[in-house]
Amino acid sequence: MSEQLIFQPSAAAVAHTHTNAEQYEAHYERSVSDPDGFWAEQARRLDWVKFPTKIKNTSFQYPDISIKWFEDGVLNVSYNCIDRHLDKRGDQVAILWEGDTPGTQDLVTYRQLHERVCRYANVLKANGVQKGDRVTIYMPMVIDTAVAMLASARIGAVHSVIFGGFSPDSIAGRVGDCGSKIILTADEGRRGGKIIPLKKAVDEALTKVGGVEKVIVVKVTGNAVNMEPGRDLWYHDEAAKVSADCPPEPMNAEDPLFILYTSGSTGKPKGVLHTTGGYLVYGSLTHQLSFDYRDGEVFWCTADVGWITGHTYIVYGPLANGATTLMFEGVPSYPDASRFWQVVEKHKVNIFHTAPTAIRALMGAGAEYADKYDMPTLRLLGTVGEPINPEAWLWYSKHVGKDRCTVVDAWWQTETGGHMIAPFPGAVPTKPGSATKPFFGVQPVVLSPEGKLQEQTKAEGVLAIKDSWPGQMRTVYGDHQRFVETYFSQYKGYYFTGDGCRRDEDGYYWITGRVDDVLNVSGHRLGTAEVESALVAHPKVSEAAVVGYPHDIKGQGIYCYVTLMAGEQSSDELRSELKTWVRKEIGPIATPDLIQWAPGLPKTRSGKIMRRILRKVAENDFGALGDTSTLADPTVVDDLIANRQNR
Ligand code: ATP
Ligand code: MG
Repeated sequence: MSEQLIFQPSAAAVAHTHTNAEQYEAHYERSVSDPDGFWAEQARRLDWVKFPTKIKNTSFQYPDISIKWFEDGVLNVSYNCIDRHLDKRGDQVAILWEGDTPGTQDLVTYRQLHERVCRYANVLKANGVQKGDRVTIYMPMVIDTAVAMLASARIGAVHSVIFGGFSPDSIAGRVGDCGSKIILTADEGRRGGKIIPLKKAVDEALTKVGGVEKVIVVKVTGNAVNMEPGRDLWYHDEAAKVSADCPPEPMNAEDPLFILYTSGSTGKPKGVLHTTGGYLVYGSLTHQLSFDYRDGEVFWCTADVGWITGHTYIVYGPLANGATTLMFEGVPSYPDASRFWQVVEKHKVNIFHTAPTAIRALMGAGAEYADKYDMPTLRLLGTVGEPINPEAWLWYSKHVGKDRCTVVDAWWQTETGGHMIAPFPGAVPTKPGSATKPFFGVQPVVLSPEGKLQEQTKAEGVLAIKDSWPGQMRTVYGDHQRFVETYFSQYKGYYFTGDGCRRDEDGYYWITGRVDDVLNVSGHRLGTAEVESALVAHPKVSEAAVVGYPHDIKGQGIYCYVTLMAGEQSSDELRSELKTWVRKEIGPIATPDLIQWAPGLPKTRSGKIMRRILRKVAENDFGALGDTSTLADPTVVDDLIANRQNR
């Protein structure tokens, strides 16, 4: 159905773009046939202390996996994100901050950012942090968090940002895993009108893990918190003691920049390690090209800096490109479902990037919230994080984009550093629900589950990548073997993404969900994302999650968790209506066997549905729910168990 829908780039997008259709094909071809030449040119977008003479040196040959880019180059990330812009953009806004409480806002210019980062870097040095040390950052969405990240990068320390909603256990696990001796935190944070007790969570975490010598606390709410003498220090006291002059540390391109733990939707989070040169070249290039970013625009990515999306598209990509990046402390639903659109108008946002989970929630709340705002400055909308249901894509394009904005659905992973498959605005026509075509240098392949390369254009199977790209993770921190086994052992010679996909006759990629989530119904393979999209296309459904469960006849049955739109009533009639609906949309093979009404779905803190848990509930296997510590709201699980369907 939706596969027939094609949106040609608008005239405005074509006139505006960095890359037109022919250039896309030509540059893409060059990027894969001559990666050394192509990426040497792209590396010039950064300022290097020493420009690299070696560009690509990578091997996907199991078990000798080795990935090096620009290996003899020397540079500093914070210099590239700040110092080099000072002449031209010293007074331009670098970070525009919108607080959780409507009416609160703040900003830093590039010059002010420079001063704050240097000072923070000197505070780190004064507290014993040296090049290569790991610095844990557990902070809310405030400007100081970006400052802390850039300050670590300035002195060559390796940051590990932990999302400010994680529990003390999650903090302890991550701090212990990377052996960090210092934690940067805040007294408290704010989110959706609630206070988040960050320092308290750190205190509790530190009863469970050793080795932390210093905790540096930024004052955000000003409420009283416990301060452990000798260990805990107020940032403002420390900052007053140091100078605002801190030269950037020259770093090798392959020196670590940060560790970031994956969201944990499939199991124990992995400490993904990214390095300096390749990550920044790739992050800044993807930010510029796949969002078609133009000088002077306001760019807003709604992710939390605790996720890779926040790292690459709130902090490093935009700042490397000299952009004005908007940082939002709050949530889409507070004080009500029009908050995003108010902020877009208030700050004259040009490019807006969010996640399907937010789009579906706002769709569920009703289009009237978005319809009230014209948002005349908006010209491009991004979506990332999960497969976007065509229905949600169309809603986003119509009610937010007013049918004039380009929609960019970008597929990528914490592991990939930046976008991998995404439409080049103005160059690649879009199809709702498809991430479309690969970015420069990215060679996706479709393999059968047994590993056979699918050479014909129209194909279906698992998604793997044939060769390295500069933004690729280098290792799992402290466990290179886990890196090799997780990503390179199952399909030899390829990087395995863990996602399933379909490639259509135009060579467009459609992510069908995690490979573990693919259903096998009476011998037919069916992506959970497809059944979910069909359900969400029903006017009464706002969100759906689909999993398989053992079925005597079919092998696997289709179990659906359905959240209804605000104000809709559940009933047995609606259940049969939905079954008929899906049957009509996809075919008899996809007819749901069981439908459970779910007022809430178990989601990771980054808003992804954790199907692993839904599968266990559907299988009636409550003892084996696994690691639920990364769930946003663990209580929804009890409700799901209590209302499990079995007929
Ligand atoms: P873990 O690896 O610990 O299970 P995670 O995979 O959720 O966590 P991320 O790296 O944040 O952690 O997410 C990457 C995954 O998100 C991709 O592998 C894919 O499944 C999904 N994803 C991201 N963007 C898209 C998109 N545009 N379309 C479809 N799926 C997407
Ligand atoms: Mg993953």
